[in-house]
Amino acid sequence: MFNAFLQLLYPKLCFACEDPLFESEDFICTYCRISLARVDYADNSPWWLRAKFDGLFTYSEVQTFFIFAAGGRVQHLMHAIKYKGAQDLGKFLGFWAGQSLKKSHFFQEVDCVIPIPLHAKRLRERTYNQAECIGNGLASGLQIPILPLGLQKSLQSHSLIGQDRSHRFELLKDSFEVLADVRGKHILIVDDTLTTGATLLAAAEKIKAAGAKEVSFFTLAALK
Ligand SMILES: [Zn+2]
Repeated sequence: MFNAFLQLLYPKLCFACEDPLFESEDFICTYCRISLARVDYADNSPWWLRAKFDGLFTYSEVQTFFIFAAGGRVQHLMHAIKYKGAQDLGKFLGFWAGQSLKKSHFFQEVDCVIPIPLHAKRLRERTYNQAECIGNGLASGLQIPILPLGLQKSLQSHSLIGQDRSHRFELLKDSFEVLADVRGKHILIVDDTLTTGATLLAAAEKIKAAGAKEVSFFTLAALK
């Protein structure tokens, strides 16, 4: 009763469309839950997602949850997770994705999840790593462990702006350091949004070089 009263005074809003939520709804409304652009896990991972890595790196599987469109409701969600402190939302969506992926038999061979880290300075500014929030939810949905500090991001000495693709990649690659023992393991690297794939590729190269058996990728949203 008291909760209903509070909800009347300060309605909780859907993180995607910003309409007020019903008491029975968490984080996103039923309409958004059903209608947000998502990847169909009944099929193989989409070609446009695989095309970002094919021929560049030998990976095992790649998947995403939402299809990102600038200015849309998915962008609202991702913005809230990244910049507005919505850590629980990241965990909630990661868990939802993890459960759905498990049901559709994706990532069955994965040993553990490693999130893309933030550089220490940026972590201090933001106070949390959004990829870790998503990774935590995903790992519990998939029922596999997470190594939250498996990777470390060191200071990038040069700006990536104006660099060509291969030079960018070299700079990015050297900014990651593997801190966990990944030898012989199948690692699922997790990030919030996938655009070019350069960050995931750079982290994957380092993890493979540290002795991992296989690498797979998951992001909560991906640009088509
Ligand atoms: Zn909504």
